[in-house]
Amino acid sequence: AELYGIRRWGNGYFDVSARGELTVRVPTADGSIQVALAEILDGVRQRDLRLPLLLRIENLLDAQITRLNEAFRNAIAEHDYPGSYRGVFPIKVNQQRQVIEEITRFGAPYRHGLEAGSKAELMIALASLPADGSLIICNGYKDREFIDLGLRARQLGFQCIFVIETPAELPVILARSRALGVEPRLGVRVKLSTTVGGHWNLTSGERSIFGLSISQLVEVVDRLREAEMLNTLRLLHCHLGSQIPQLDDIRSAAAEACRFYQELMNEGAAMEMIDFGGGLAVDYLGTGSSDSQSRDYSLAGYAAALVETVMTNLTDPDRPPTIITESGRETVAYYSLLLFNIFDVTRFDPAAEGLIPGPEAHPLLRKMASRLERIGAETPQQNYREIVACRDRLHELFTAGQLSLRDRALAQELLLAAGRRLLRQSPGQQLPADLQTLREDLAAIYYGNLSVFQSLPDHWAIGQLFPVAPIRRLAEKPQCHAVIADITCDSDGRISRFIADRGTRATLALHELAPGEDYVLATFLVGAYQETLGDLHNLFGDTDIASVRIEADGGFVITREDRGDSVADLLGYVQYDARELKARFRATAEQAVRENRINLPQRQEILACFNAGLDGYSYFET
Ligand code: PLP
Repeated sequence: AELYGIRRWGNGYFDVSARGELTVRVPTADGSIQVALAEILDGVRQRDLRLPLLLRIENLLDAQITRLNEAFRNAIAEHDYPGSYRGVFPIKVNQQRQVIEEITRFGAPYRHGLEAGSKAELMIALASLPADGSLIICNGYKDREFIDLGLRARQLGFQCIFVIETPAELPVILARSRALGVEPRLGVRVKLSTTVGGHWNLTSGERSIFGLSISQLVEVVDRLREAEMLNTLRLLHCHLGSQIPQLDDIRSAAAEACRFYQELMNEGAAMEMIDFGGGLAVDYLGTGSSDSQSRDYSLAGYAAALVETVMTNLTDPDRPPTIITESGRETVAYYSLLLFNIFDVTRFDPAAEGLIPGPEAHPLLRKMASRLERIGAETPQQNYREIVACRDRLHELFTAGQLSLRDRALAQELLLAAGRRLLRQSPGQQLPADLQTLREDLAAIYYGNLSVFQSLPDHWAIGQLFPVAPIRRLAEKPQCHAVIADITCDSDGRISRFIADRGTRATLALHELAPGEDYVLATFLVGAYQETLGDLHNLFGDTDIASVRIEADGGFVITREDRGDSVADLLGYVQYDARELKARFRATAEQAVRENRINLPQRQEILACFNAGLDGYSYFET
């Protein structure tokens, strides 16, 4: 558990059993219960689902929604805040139907609402929440159709709020409201001048793309007043970006937002709600730090900071705003993990360390061998550098046609042997700058049955780190330093940064694979953003998905099984029709029969193989 930092990033949900199995721990009425991921995987595989597999654990979603709402309840009670909290889940963070259905189910006791950023997301919200005052916050640019739908939703009984992102929306909203005879409920999204740290900070600051500038805000207020509709302005919205690592940044931004809220009250708007958007970070690294992949605060600290800031800045006891957050990442990140198997390994080990070039061998090879001997004794790094220089010279000779293939191979073996020996000489030591990548250069490549582009797009695009660990053998010390390559034939298709004791490292400690072993790794905290951002690079599609609910007795129920894309599905996305493909391939086979290149039974076998491929999984099938 220590090696993979499981207890640090696991948020209390992941641990290791005495048998060395990675476990998931979920809360129960009288404590908690642990189940091995391997046990869940066995159950899922017996139902014919395959690896790679996205595993959703319902209890973790339930627990996170509860923790979020309870954190605010506690902060409100501790501070005697006279107002309340309402959470809304931003649909963009994970739009999958099952996810939204579960969020609305687990969120019902807290009247947790939804945030929609497009027409399609508004339709999801309307289909998922009950029409009894459920809160729907509509962000994003809204055309007439979007506005009509939102106004109708108010007629039905939803508390549907249009957050004005641009002054151009207002005349359409006012005109449609008059035409349909439905009074809107409005919010304004302001651009705060506070900027924040982290990866996703482009939504903060006065140059941010979204929201109203100060003069636009004044213009909106004036137009509403002219239309005698200032009483429909109820909400102030701000969003500084996702994954904000520092609580001080959140506090400053919230204080600035409160000032806007107060000014809107002074202008005569019927303000009721202050919406701080997203930004509540997930501690992917488990360091509790201000690193962009961590956070320097707890959930309780976040809730307390917002409640305190509102109380200090908005002091009218008769009009305390309802505090809203649109926390997406924190709500769903823990809920999903991706399980994948290792299907091949490439090692960078010398075939035999004691390779000795004969007396007739090239002098540079003999020099390499003699320096290799000396690595153990004196100035190991200097000897190693000389070996590298010899190898470089030998490469040149090979290119010039003056060295044989076998001698070049011997040079490579000697270099690998020297690298290994040097690392053994300096375990855990910091190597000088020119040798710093040696550990990485000698790391084994474990080929994982996954597509980073499909399943971990943020790792590929922005270096987002997701914890990775084997699900079994955790009681055994792993002996191998490895990187993980994915199944796409793209050099970017790899997991190349891992969690270390402090910060990150370029290799992951993994176990030597026994022959035929089914070595399964899990990538954690992938519930937020990854499913929708994933793409079809090299035509690897959606993975199989299983949802489980863990019961209080330690058993589990598989509540949903979804098979991922077949090859035919994927080809369909790029406009190939499977039936047409089959017909064309049949014609090619028929031609071969006519030309006597294959016989009829062979034709049938070839066609069966083609058809099975179309129906099969896009990933590596064993
Ligand atoms: N609200 C808005 C308007 C957003 O754009 C986003 C995403 O960036 C969120 C909420 C969700 O943010 P987070 O996942 O950090 O909670």
